[in-house]
Amino acid sequence: MGVGESFKWLDCAINDFIGSGGSSSSFTGGCFGCGAHDHWWRECPWRTSNCTVDGCGDPKRLYTSKIEATKGQKFLKCTNPICKKSFTWLKDAMQEEKQNKRED
Ligand SMILES: [Zn+2]
Ligand SMILES: [Zn+2]
Repeated sequence: MGVGESFKWLDCAINDFIGSGGSSSSFTGGCFGCGAHDHWWRECPWRTSNCTVDGCGDPKRLYTSKIEATKGQKFLKCTNPICKKSFTWLKDAMQEEKQNKRED
């Protein structure tokens, strides 16, 4: 035990799971999950992404940080409680995705 120690602050950060959507009335276009303009939240690839950790592959969920230092920033969290790398900032994940695409 003690693995999750450094992620303790997440407990208060994950209250704001974006979840099943709802309507964002002030939002005029694109995805309010990842901020891309080529799709809606309903079709967001980050909404249903799977964990890339070896031997995991569980679904990840998109959350918004609530703590002051990183307020409003999105992050992905694996739903597997024993995942080795359960937490990724969305911007890092997107960066990684971009790099992977370039290599193909
Ligand atoms: Zn999106
Ligand atoms: Zn995982």
